[in-house]
Amino acid sequence: MELQNSINCFNEAKQVIAGGVNSPVRAFKSVNSTPPFIREGKGTYLIDEDGNKYIDFVQSWGPLIFGHCDSDIESCVIESAKRGFSFGAPTTLETDLAKEIISVYDGVDKIRFVSSGTEATMSAIRLARAYTSRDDIIKFEGCYHGHSDCLLVKGGSGMATFGAPSSPGVPNDITKHTLVAKYNDIDSVKSCIEFSKKNSNGVACVIIEPIAGNMGLVPSKIEFLKSLESICKSEGILLILDEVMSGFRASFSGSQKFYGIVPDLVTFGKVIGGGMPVGAFGGSDDIFSLLSPNGGVYQAGTLSGNPLAMSAGLVMIRKLKESPKIYERLEALAIRLTNGLSDICKAHNISLQTCVRGSMFGFFFNTHEVTDFDTALKSDVDMFSKFHNGMLNKGVYFAPSQFEAGFINACMNEEIIDSVLERAREVVLEIKSNGQ
Ligand SMILES: *Cc1c(COP(=O)(O)O)cnc(C)c1O
Repeated sequence: MELQNSINCFNEAKQVIAGGVNSPVRAFKSVNSTPPFIREGKGTYLIDEDGNKYIDFVQSWGPLIFGHCDSDIESCVIESAKRGFSFGAPTTLETDLAKEIISVYDGVDKIRFVSSGTEATMSAIRLARAYTSRDDIIKFEGCYHGHSDCLLVKGGSGMATFGAPSSPGVPNDITKHTLVAKYNDIDSVKSCIEFSKKNSNGVACVIIEPIAGNMGLVPSKIEFLKSLESICKSEGILLILDEVMSGFRASFSGSQKFYGIVPDLVTFGKVIGGGMPVGAFGGSDDIFSLLSPNGGVYQAGTLSGNPLAMSAGLVMIRKLKESPKIYERLEALAIRLTNGLSDICKAHNISLQTCVRGSMFGFFFNTHEVTDFDTALKSDVDMFSKFHNGMLNKGVYFAPSQFEAGFINACMNEEIIDSVLERAREVVLEIKSNGQ
């Protein structure tokens, strides 16, 4: 596959943009490769600057459930653009989208929109600290909640890929209030709470990806999440479910369908913007009464609730609502894909662990079940890298890291999945015959 134009674009980008990219994972470093530069997307497909066409399992990291350039979303965004790009003043679009989200997610009476998932989690934590008058927070190893200072501790996503435990430039004074627990391990949560009582003024909140998608796809176990909910209740700790990825993705009601947990605060992003930059955090009236302008907790944004993003999100959510069987259909395709990959690997004595939650899927080249960050890190990243390169070369675009989730979109069908599996069969055979 010819990538010369992309290579030239990448070199040019590197002259003016740090590392040539505006988000680290896009640089394809962890698969020892070079990123295709994308010219356009159409439904299931991406087309790069050399004219190569890829079946896209990334879909902008989750938002595009209906694929690229969905005609309903596209026309709504165009109509909205004609009325103005941004006003810095309220619109009814914001109310409409807030209503859609509130009607689906338990525990959410009020919403505030921001422009990214990072802002959503950062603001939710500020609110939780104010509400409880406590400073410490608990996060989990391998969970990623964006790149705000206090959350850059043992994150997943690009951080897992680079193996960086945290980032230079973040003062210890800030992260000392971030206690890190082990995913799916309730005892580690209890230890953090005890530690906080001894050393600080207690834990304000626990933030968790209920269905972790930033260390690969690793759902939390139901008993674990239920225990977490009840410990938080009894300790007066707020539970923040970070559904930036899983919200409207794992199911229409995100993790709720799988766990039935009612959180104190929820964060959203990705799908609710239909591909436009967006984030949101929501919670009870009681907690939200503290937020400015009603309360003293400050939070703001020049482009927050941007009309183009709100329009895209509204069509997205309404379309999803009108397609009641869509998650079942996407899940069936995800299972067809992961089962197929498992069979291919089994035939070649390659250990593969797979997982599906609605339209999200994950696979690890790993001999053991992956339940947390430690077990995820035991995956064979060299094998992943070979597989990724091989598939990309055959026109299949998986996320360029072992530690990311994959996404099915509504333009996919069984023929497309089967054609991906056919290519996977060839790639695995090539890897094997090259003496892996
Ligand atoms: C993507 C993601 C974020 C960060 O969102 P951005 O829009 O990239 O800032 C936060 N939490 C989770 C679970 C995510 O998947």
